[in-house]
Amino acid sequence: MKTETACLHAVRDRTHFTGAVAAPIYQSATFAHPRVGESTGYDYSRLQNPTREHVENLVCALEDGADALAFSSGMAAISVMMELFSPGDEIIATDDLYGGSIRLFEHVSGKNGVTVRYVDTSDLTALEKTITDKTRGIFIETPTNPMMKVTDVAGVRSLAAGKNILLIVDNTFLTPYFFKPIALGADIVVHSGTKYLAGHNDTLSGFLVAGNDELAEKLRFLHKTVGAVLAPFDAFLVTRGIKTLAIRMEKSQQNALGIARWLESHPKVRQVNYTGLSGHPSYELSKRQASGFGSMISFAVDTEETAVNVLNRTELILFAESLGGVETLITWPITQTHADVPKAELISRGIDERLLRLSVGIEAAEDIIEDLERALQ
Ligand code: PLP
Repeated sequence: MKTETACLHAVRDRTHFTGAVAAPIYQSATFAHPRVGESTGYDYSRLQNPTREHVENLVCALEDGADALAFSSGMAAISVMMELFSPGDEIIATDDLYGGSIRLFEHVSGKNGVTVRYVDTSDLTALEKTITDKTRGIFIETPTNPMMKVTDVAGVRSLAAGKNILLIVDNTFLTPYFFKPIALGADIVVHSGTKYLAGHNDTLSGFLVAGNDELAEKLRFLHKTVGAVLAPFDAFLVTRGIKTLAIRMEKSQQNALGIARWLESHPKVRQVNYTGLSGHPSYELSKRQASGFGSMISFAVDTEETAVNVLNRTELILFAESLGGVETLITWPITQTHADVPKAELISRGIDERLLRLSVGIEAAEDIIEDLERALQ
């Protein structure tokens, strides 16, 4: 079954005796047992809930995993994933990472005795040099947020082979519609389901997809124990969002390519980072390991004043954090998503006051370009 079909038909509702085409919302905290020693398969909604189970099975099928768990946010999912590690363990993470993940690693994981070291994982030689006998995990974001660097996931798997290292890939930007990390050797896939999976800027959610049964069992234990689970109504919204994942990903990607090309030719734009541009350093790798480039763009303008003007002047494009929804959003990474990362570190990675990030939506590309043109004047 092709992924676009799987988005609609991979999972049938287990309670489909009613014929409901949309999986119903089971807004129930608990489930009655028929009699002693018998269960309907559902006991208490922190452990399992039919609406959450539906979206978990769907995401599991799309990612070709062994099991998937739905969380109340992407950060809840990443926090639970970090509970797999013990004091003394080292994790290597992509240096150009979502700021919230860095905040978690620095302020929570560090306190728990897990050290996270950052390296440009798009450079396999640098990554290999960073691995020590204490390394128990490699956490990759690809393309990265906001610089759009791409990591060769199969290459990382080969480097880490036989070393008892878990390979974790945050697949928020490309989604399983364009990219399937487990097929390339990832052990765990992470999602901020808030973004493209849900797709409408109307709910938070997160997922962990386990690549094998042993990890699935450990993660399911942590999921019910920590309790940061996805609520039934939010699970319904994510299921509904996934139904249109394919057409949203295609349309926003088509828009992104047109906008990235237009930005490249604008006199006030100094650099455009979009993996779908043939001049992007990882264009070939992106084509090889994924079936699409997605719709995230970052671009540097000539001055901070121009950046501020763009943020203040766009009318159609909303100046708001988040990404992956149907509406085009613009953000200023240095003051928003990456505000907690030390400034010197940001500057060394090219994230300064002149950098803007666009999450391209599904509007008419001409309208988005017209809005940018006016804002850049
Ligand atoms: N991973 C990536 C790549 C993100 O961009 C984000 C949020 O922006 C997260 C994880 C965290 O997800 P959430 O905001 O749903 O907690």
